[in-house]
Amino acid sequence: MDLSFNQKSLEAASIIKASKYLVAFTGAGISVESGIPPFRGEDGLWSKYDPQVLELGYFHQNPYESWVVIKEIFYDFFGSAQPNSAHKVLAVLESMGLLKCVITQNIDDLHQKAGNTIVHEFHGNSQKMVCVDCHAHFGVDEVELTPLPPKCNHCQGLLKPDFIFFGESIPTIAYQESLKAAELADVFLIIGSTGEVMPANQVPMVAKRTETTIIEINPEPSRYTSHITDIYLKGKAGEVMTLLLENIRKI
Ligand code: NAD
Ligand code: ZN
Repeated sequence: MDLSFNQKSLEAASIIKASKYLVAFTGAGISVESGIPPFRGEDGLWSKYDPQVLELGYFHQNPYESWVVIKEIFYDFFGSAQPNSAHKVLAVLESMGLLKCVITQNIDDLHQKAGNTIVHEFHGNSQKMVCVDCHAHFGVDEVELTPLPPKCNHCQGLLKPDFIFFGESIPTIAYQESLKAAELADVFLIIGSTGEVMPANQVPMVAKRTETTIIEINPEPSRYTSHITDIYLKGKAGEVMTLLLENIRKI
């Protein structure tokens, strides 16, 4: 890490420490160091799997075929993932009273596992299931994943993971709470997001409308970097967040 990185990290740490309403906005990149790859890019999940399994129409017509792939990606594979140091630092920042909430595009439940209590899940959560017929909700531990597709305990209807599929709208409460938090934020951290996913990519834009300072962490520049980011910390989420916390404690 070069000198300018260290200076920027110190500056970011003092801005965070002085913040009145710090909000974090996270994308798939924050979970990469937990072993969950992003969807896009060379090693992304969509280079291995066909995204049509997450299209609502295909899922209803081919529940078994969809569920075979969904189980492999989101339960056999995601299920064992643990929070990494970036998730843990966000939980510490909440316990210090600095971080007011996390807005996440992720569906992996790792922010909650790390200890954050206010998490607005823009795309839902893979660790919950919903019945497409009676709309009952279940935790993943209450559901048998063999045989597939899983069935509702109440009405035997088809169960669907409680995250949004292509073509579904954003859960209303998460959407409203995310926009409210973005408006209230005076410092807004963007961690591991390309900025390509609509409409989630509008949330940082809402934050930027006021005098908010945008701090971004990503090994690669994103759509935000040259547009709205004030301090860009180029690097992996776990490493950069650990350094930020060290600096926040030192200042
Ligand atoms: P994305 O917008 O979530 O982008 C991933 C970003 O992560 C990229 O900008 C990449 O440069 C960055 N990144 C890679 N390694 C990183 C690291 N170690 N630290 C910080 N940043 C890192 O794009 P996507 O993957 O195409 O996701 C599409 C949608 O699906 C998003 O809403 C995403 O949150 C969701 N998704 C969720 C999960 C999950 O729940 N873990 C996994 C894949 C995708
Ligand atoms: Zn049901």
